[in-house]
Amino acid sequence: MNITEIIKYSIDLIAVLLLALGIKGLSKVRSAREANRLAALAMALAVAGVFVDFLGGLGIPFNSWLWILLGISVGSSLGALTAQRVPMTSMPETVALFNGCGGMSSLLVAIGVALFPLSDQSNAFTNQIVQEVSIAVSIFVGAITFTGSIVAMAKLQGWLSTPEWTQNKVRHFFNISFAALCLIASFNFLIGGSSSIWLLVIGSGLLGIGVSLPIGGADMPVVISLLNSYSGVAAAAAGFVVGSQLLIVAGAMVGAAGLILTQVMCNGMNRSLTSVLFGGALGSSNSSESSSGEYTNITSCSVEECALTLEAAERVIIVPGYGLAVAQAQHTLREVTRVLEANQIEVSYAIHPVAGRMPGHMNVLLAEADVPYEQLKEMDVINPDFPATDVVLVLGANDVVNPQAKNDPSSPLYGMPVLDVQEARTVFVVKRGMSAGYSGIKNDLFDLANTSMVFGDAKKVLGDLLIELKELGIGANN
Ligand code: NAP
Repeated sequence: MNITEIIKYSIDLIAVLLLALGIKGLSKVRSAREANRLAALAMALAVAGVFVDFLGGLGIPFNSWLWILLGISVGSSLGALTAQRVPMTSMPETVALFNGCGGMSSLLVAIGVALFPLSDQSNAFTNQIVQEVSIAVSIFVGAITFTGSIVAMAKLQGWLSTPEWTQNKVRHFFNISFAALCLIASFNFLIGGSSSIWLLVIGSGLLGIGVSLPIGGADMPVVISLLNSYSGVAAAAAGFVVGSQLLIVAGAMVGAAGLILTQVMCNGMNRSLTSVLFGGALGSSNSSESSSGEYTNITSCSVEECALTLEAAERVIIVPGYGLAVAQAQHTLREVTRVLEANQIEVSYAIHPVAGRMPGHMNVLLAEADVPYEQLKEMDVINPDFPATDVVLVLGANDVVNPQAKNDPSSPLYGMPVLDVQEARTVFVVKRGMSAGYSGIKNDLFDLANTSMVFGDAKKVLGDLLIELKELGIGANN
């Protein structure tokens, strides 16, 4: 092993370790920001490793450096620009787009190597058959990830709706035909027909569209998480194609992390992965059936009444939901809770695993507003606390606080783990009207005697609440 190789492998090893630490750190709110930086540093080191490789003349021809620099500049600029401009509510679409880019990269790398094979020296650790199988896997998974992610992004953006015919069982026939086409093309490629990679690209691309097109909006974030996992698998396969241990390890980690997240989301929504993938737009069709339930006992109250009840409370739990994110009310909420805390009222935040439109959505929003991490409580931790709570403030959340999930076996939500807010003494639900949540069904919480609706945009209501609390003299020293 020469000095360049030693430097390169050391950089790769550090990058992999940092990436592993980054992924581990992302599982905790407190360490998530630092973890994100570690993972970004790992990626930067991975790129540096490629440069060392190419300076040492190990694999990449010297005249390729301009292309590498161009790729880095264009990719980094687009990434930085997107990250700055995208609102938090559009994160799922952005993640879908990034997954699609990952899938496309692996796809292009595999096509490139299939058409212009690398020298043996640059791919010493894989033999020919491993490389060819990897090319087929990389193209297959990469193309599915690319087209599936683009469809997911377009649906979430509202550019594409679910066509009626895709809810018909005939879609399974199409998807099975596309899968069979991929199998035949792969086999043909492996026995020497290199031109059949194009057939494989087309078949896999169509399969990606065929699988994601019928899926309803409510299930889309699960699909995005699964596609994220696929992009890792495609990258790992591309690692075998070009002989990069770093890509194999990083891809495998992303693949495994995405799969675990998919499972967590399915559990949080009480859906099985098979029903998400093959059940069509169940979420939306069920919703229209069940949304017909009528409310019979709605009590609404003013912001002033809400402030008076809060003033007398000792323990308050905030339940943030998608509506809080839409209203961008996290900073006003933080001001309100600062005032409550200044009046010795104990405040915590109940975070449902699928509150918002993607995992971690609420944690990121609240961290942005400087909510102390220790006040964020996960559902299983906070559920036993509701009976001893004076006031629960539900802010733009709906499905995640619907008692039907526990009490009504006929409800589409039945079995979904929810926050037991109805156990508290008083519940205030802040939302603009009586519209349903993501699942489209009636919420039995709103009819309960201890629930009062405070109608209005979450930011406006919280702003008014802040004024009322201050007028009551609460948190005057704040
Ligand atoms: P939700 O069930 O979608 O309800 C959000 C509520 O916010 C709506 O009822 C809406 O009622 C209200 N709202 C909207 N804009 C508002 C505003 N500006 N001010 C005040 N209220 C506003 O949200 P959730 O309880 O957070 O539940 C999340 C849902 O997303 C779950 O069904 C979950 O399964 C699904 N989901 C989440 C994930 C994830 O990973 N987080 C993934 C997949 C699916 P009004 O229109 O009447 O105001």
